[in-house]
Amino acid sequence: MQKSTQPPISDQEIAKLKESALFSEKGKTKFSSRLLVIGGLLTAEQLREIAKLASRYGDGSVHLTTRQGVEIPHIPYEKLNLFQRALEKSSVKPAQSGKCVRAITACPGSYCKFGTIDTQQLAKELFKKFGKRKNLPHKFKIAVSGCRHCCSKPHENDLGVMGIGKFAVFVGGMAGKTPRWGDKLPFEIKEKSKLFNIVNAVINWYEKNGNDKERFGATIERVGLANLIDELSPLQ
Ligand code: SF4
Repeated sequence: MQKSTQPPISDQEIAKLKESALFSEKGKTKFSSRLLVIGGLLTAEQLREIAKLASRYGDGSVHLTTRQGVEIPHIPYEKLNLFQRALEKSSVKPAQSGKCVRAITACPGSYCKFGTIDTQQLAKELFKKFGKRKNLPHKFKIAVSGCRHCCSKPHENDLGVMGIGKFAVFVGGMAGKTPRWGDKLPFEIKEKSKLFNIVNAVINWYEKNGNDKERFGATIERVGLANLIDELSPLQ
């Protein structure tokens, strides 16, 4: 009998699964589940649960993403429902996917000897405040580093915070096909509350000015950094 070359599921279903951070692999018969990790920090219990899920529903392997995320690869389509139910009962959650604020990465600046700010706490607070922002022109990545060594690559994220005792902020960075180095805002911020106001205003500006599927850095190139800075300056 001739083997079917048809994928077992439609592209619409694949797109729907992607919203739950389930990404189809080559051949569209197996999926990778991306899990939410903030600041690259997981508990030992979460790691045990991830290991269990990977062994039970995948092939026992776990992949670490470049943005401190964790993925369970090779979950067969037939097992997705059971996997999702088991994931719901666990202490780990699926990652954010699509045109939204993504998981926030952070270095261990809270306890690294070079750290000048509490990066882990800041990552958690940023995610709590902005992790629900959706319907943006494109994905929006935030990274926090504790000092000028920039281990979490704040210049390569849509918004990067660098601890210098105070906060320095970079906007419009990205990697990918057309990498762009983030622009440093021409002022530094002393208080966390002001930092949150700036981050909020940055995301609002992107929401207002960005074209559909346009990364933030490209919007800055098109509209102009000066326009963004004019909007942010009264908040510093
Ligand atoms: S960026 Fe600085 S504080 Fe953070 S891990 Fe690197 S050296 Fe430590």
